[in-house]
Amino acid sequence: MEIIIGKNAGFCYGVKNAVVNTEEQLKENKNIYCLGELVHNRQVVEKLENSGLKIVDKLADSKNKIIIRAHGTEKKTYEDAKKMNIEILDYTCPNVLKIHNIAKEFASKGYYIFLIGEKKHPETIGNISFCGENSFLIENENEIKEAINNFENSKLNKLLIITQTTFSLEKFNLYVDIIKNNLNENVELVVKNTICNATKIRQEETEQISKKVDFMIIVGGKNSSNTKKLFQIAKTNCKNSIIIETKEELNLEDIKNYKTIGIMAGASTPDYIIEDIYNTISNYIN
Ligand code: SF4
Repeated sequence: MEIIIGKNAGFCYGVKNAVVNTEEQLKENKNIYCLGELVHNRQVVEKLENSGLKIVDKLADSKNKIIIRAHGTEKKTYEDAKKMNIEILDYTCPNVLKIHNIAKEFASKGYYIFLIGEKKHPETIGNISFCGENSFLIENENEIKEAINNFENSKLNKLLIITQTTFSLEKFNLYVDIIKNNLNENVELVVKNTICNATKIRQEETEQISKKVDFMIIVGGKNSSNTKKLFQIAKTNCKNSIIIETKEELNLEDIKNYKTIGIMAGASTPDYIIEDIYNTISNYIN
């Protein structure tokens, strides 16, 4: 049996930066708070909680210092923290900060903004808060018509399209094409593909590997948006695809029947979980 592990499987630099900085903080202070789970991976969060990290849902539940995770947060969080005298340790990924800055810049220049992303995703909730009132969040293709109607009713003539960093590239391109085909000719349109490179690379590699293996394992948090996207891509190319968080979910009896196995992991999956899975399969078949 051959096992192929994606070269880009696991932590992206944004997640790594947030985890390493949090670990450093915890060495000096056991009472650090984080607004929401630091990363979308239960095992990583549990490890940090065991070292003292406290996850809270509201600023009011923290004391003095609070960590902003790689996904970023809403504009109001920064404003409220200032009023409440809470120091922010901002570990927002530079790719997400870039979206906030683009949104602020174009909103101030009089652009209407379409943000393409998942409505309930924390990053999107943060992103949209920087877009101002002349904005519309598009999650599905069937919301595009309403978005265009709202844009036309705003009487603005300039439109910016941006997207959540972990959105599917394929869907982003599709939505942009639909929007372009339905816009008035005189609209000044700016499209910025803000899908992060780490996401793009993982999606492309998942596609390549899943096309050549008999069985594909996607490793990552079940609540991780980028991991779920990898699973959708894998499933399209390899019908024997599974998504798991840890080696305990493997059905080794089933796996031993396959000749080639691919392993890919989301951006918030630590290396030791990927290695655990690889070693568990290797030890079983040898
Ligand atoms: S997936 Fe991309 S945007 Fe998100 S934390 Fe990683 S590098 Fe940053």
